[in-house]
Amino acid sequence: MIKYFSQKLLVLRDYLNYSENNLEEDLTADLILLQNQLESMLDRVQKNSATLQKFQAFEMRLLKLNNLSDTIDHLLDEAKNYFDLDVISLCLIDETGEISKTLSDKGYPFSSKTGLILLNDEKTLISNNVPYIGIYQHNQYTNFFPHFDRLPASIAITPLSRRGRNLGSLNLGSYQADRFANNMATDFIEHLSSVVSVCLENNLNVEEIRRVSYIDTLTGINNRRFLDQRIGEELNACQRTAEPVSCQFFDIDFFKSVNDKHGHQGGDQVLSLVAATIKNQLRDNDVFVRYGGEEFVGLLSNTNEVRALEIAERIRKAIQILPITFNGVSIPVTISIGVSTHVPIAKSIVNIDKIATRLIKSADSALYKAKHNGRNRVENGGVV
Ligand code: GH3
Ligand code: MG
Ligand code: MG
Repeated sequence: MIKYFSQKLLVLRDYLNYSENNLEEDLTADLILLQNQLESMLDRVQKNSATLQKFQAFEMRLLKLNNLSDTIDHLLDEAKNYFDLDVISLCLIDETGEISKTLSDKGYPFSSKTGLILLNDEKTLISNNVPYIGIYQHNQYTNFFPHFDRLPASIAITPLSRRGRNLGSLNLGSYQADRFANNMATDFIEHLSSVVSVCLENNLNVEEIRRVSYIDTLTGINNRRFLDQRIGEELNACQRTAEPVSCQFFDIDFFKSVNDKHGHQGGDQVLSLVAATIKNQLRDNDVFVRYGGEEFVGLLSNTNEVRALEIAERIRKAIQILPITFNGVSIPVTISIGVSTHVPIAKSIVNIDKIATRLIKSADSALYKAKHNGRNRVENGGVV
């Protein structure tokens, strides 16, 4: 009996030993599994947090930009690095041509900028303003990725709109076919498109206000504020290139008597036609403004004294033969012009504001001389 029980006890002890070992092994395996899962979750959390930080940094930078060209550059050049993308393009609807005008005024190379697409209507955009996320399909999405050496395999086309106004679309592309899948959550893309839309609309409005504030409403040419803003830039540029810059000061002769004879409306018509005629004689990139009443100023970069005088003479003649009629009555008009020139001295340190003031003052004095010497003539104030 005792032998029987001691044998049973031995069996039980072995069983318990075995169970204990097995339990320990099972528990360890479970623990390792849990640890691995935890590590991969932590890894994912860290990755998500890094993405979020990148996204926030991208947004903060975007929100701080206060002009259109910097915003376009940030979207096209920086977004790729922030979001690990291979291609990115931006369609902007530019029905009135104001975006291209604003960009070209600033010397921004909008027609050669890779990824920037200015559309004169919204027909080429996807319908319903709904984002497309998925495989890149030729024909259907070719317009969104022109001029790229290598086309993406998967894409996210995100329409940009604000308060019912269609602004365009931001188009993200990856060489990986599974980067943008059509079952992907769209909240990230939608958030991005909302932020980009707000920034774009804001900058478009700012540019519009800026553009309007530089325009003279009567003649449609730029105003004196524009000259004040540009003269420094022009002089700095001519200092860098060591090219001369000339100033022309125009004043309509006996304009008061035009008003007296033909009324203010007749006078206004003369002002508009004279402005348009002078503008026509200058180059597109010359600064030409209505300085005040019946006075205009032209700033001609890369133009020396001799050339500026030739151009002034050509303008004087063009005004003299200009056929202007108001209420069937012909109005003969002439202008007097004063010219001055600045020739930069290479590598010299100069006070740009001082040169600007002297350049305009000298052209104004030459204009005064032209008036004094009989009007309808050009006088040279020389090099300042
Ligand atoms: P001068 O040959 O010496 O330049 O004589 P002027 O009569 O042209 O010069 P003055 O400065 O005596 O007169 C300028 C006139 O321009 C006076 C002003 O009524 C008129 N004027 C200024 N702004 C406007 C405008 O916006 N519309 C019209 N119609 N007239 C204007
Ligand atoms: Mg005057
Ligand atoms: Mg006058």
